[in-house]
Amino acid sequence: MSNLEELYKEIILDHYRTPRNRGELPPPASKTEGFNPLCGDELTVYLDVKDGVVADIKITGHGCSISQASSSLMSVAIKGKTLEEVREVLSKFKNMMTLEGDVVDLNDPANRDVLRSLGELAALQGVAKFPVRIKCATLAWNTLSQGLEEN
Ligand code: ZN
Repeated sequence: MSNLEELYKEIILDHYRTPRNRGELPPPASKTEGFNPLCGDELTVYLDVKDGVVADIKITGHGCSISQASSSLMSVAIKGKTLEEVREVLSKFKNMMTLEGDVVDLNDPANRDVLRSLGELAALQGVAKFPVRIKCATLAWNTLSQGLEEN
């Protein structure tokens, strides 16, 4: 395992063990539930959008380490961001995960730039190698997309 893979594994474990932005938000924050029946992962995403900015986000749920770590990483990545920035992160993340089945060459400078722009989210890229786990990693993001439509 390369140093980078080792680092990515640590980031996922850290977010799984110590999830960020855990909890609930009272109305008028929106509440969106997501479920991944393939693995049994459940998430509820609370979004407080004020003046086009994600003023606060909280998440509850349970499931495998990938689903929970992904939701924690997502909450950190989008909190305080404008809706436009959030949509940009969302599409970058989805692009990263649709490299499905391919092993991304981490030594390719082009890939490095993409991963660098994603920060800690890049840690989830390794999951794309395991198609059954992709739904675990994307659950939080699909739930977020749905929540944004309601705002
Ligand atoms: Zn899962």
